[in-house]
Amino acid sequence: MTQELETYFNNYFAMFRSEGWKQLISDLQSNVGQINSVEMTTDNDNLNFRKGQLAILATILNLETQIDNAHAEAESGEDTEEALDELFDFRCPCGQLFEDLVKSDVTTSRCSCGLDAKRVISPVRSNLEGISGDFPDAHDKWVKERATHGIRTKANLLENLHTKHLHNTKVRS
Ligand SMILES: [Zn+2]
Repeated sequence: MTQELETYFNNYFAMFRSEGWKQLISDLQSNVGQINSVEMTTDNDNLNFRKGQLAILATILNLETQIDNAHAEAESGEDTEEALDELFDFRCPCGQLFEDLVKSDVTTSRCSCGLDAKRVISPVRSNLEGISGDFPDAHDKWVKERATHGIRTKANLLENLHTKHLHNTKVRS
């Protein structure tokens, strides 16, 4: 994770720990009950207005969970990348050139002749790394986008549930 992404998450975590945030969440939770009320809904416009309010509230109420998930994803993504073996070329003093699947920090491999072969970076391999290799900034951007997309998805889901609830109650009454 880059410094920028770590700061991004830490800013949120600091806010979630603050008393003001806990207060806000508890206030908003009691607001949800009032807004999601059939008795208080006067007409169709008012119903749509309430749906919008609930969607925004759901986004805020779920923010901590969404950020936690995105943070975990960012960390686990890093572990996977570190654990992955990559294919490298090795050249032995005996003249043999061969490929071996090793961790990215391994620079020697045992040749079949018994000597230690040194890792070589071929021009082709370097190009490939340019395409599929480490772009920490791009990865961080992806994690951030996933985080905000997740928030939207969850909000939409909740909105649908509330809509359904309001609709069902309305039909019955
Ligand atoms: Zn050899």
